[in-house]
Amino acid sequence: MTDGPDDGAAEREGAVPTDYDGTAYPQAESASDLAGVPDGLSRLWTPHRIAYIEAGGVPSSHECPFCVAPTLSDEQGLIVHRGEHAFVLMNLFPYNSGHLLICPYRHVAGYDETTEAESAEMTHLTQTAMRVLRATSGPAGFNIGMNQGAVAGAGVAAHLHQHVVPRWASDANFFPIIAQTKAIPKLLGDARRELAEAWPV
Ligand SMILES: [Zn+2]
Repeated sequence: MTDGPDDGAAEREGAVPTDYDGTAYPQAESASDLAGVPDGLSRLWTPHRIAYIEAGGVPSSHECPFCVAPTLSDEQGLIVHRGEHAFVLMNLFPYNSGHLLICPYRHVAGYDETTEAESAEMTHLTQTAMRVLRATSGPAGFNIGMNQGAVAGAGVAAHLHQHVVPRWASDANFFPIIAQTKAIPKLLGDARRELAEAWPV
């Protein structure tokens, strides 16, 4: 891998690119493996990313996605619920269908930097997110947690976010093993609308 200003170099040289949350993108298909005349391009079929495309593109790398999201419409920002001190949004790069993030509006990195009002509302929103997910999709369990700092796996280390990941007994299928790809059966926009409509007022 070369050092240099060209951000595309690493991708072209075969390193697995990761999203802002640390999840590896699925491997792109080489054109030489596809039917037809190879054109030297790789293709990555990620239909859930239509939500980003429709939103007008990925925020540039110097913008914090969790500061930008609340400035957009619910649909564009993939926001499920806006509280007073914190909000709930779909993870753009979900580990599973219904993977939600609970963020304070304030750009703080550490859980210990939140005010009592912020941490109390994050707890309340986490519990409500669990209830809404149970009511809409009946998960058998949850993974809930906060990665604090890049060394601990936080992709956006500068802006605190709590993961709420619903789990089903059958969700750990063979796709991640054979294809390094997670099957996300529901499109993010559809999932956002379903959860927002089920969120208690
Ligand atoms: Zn931020």
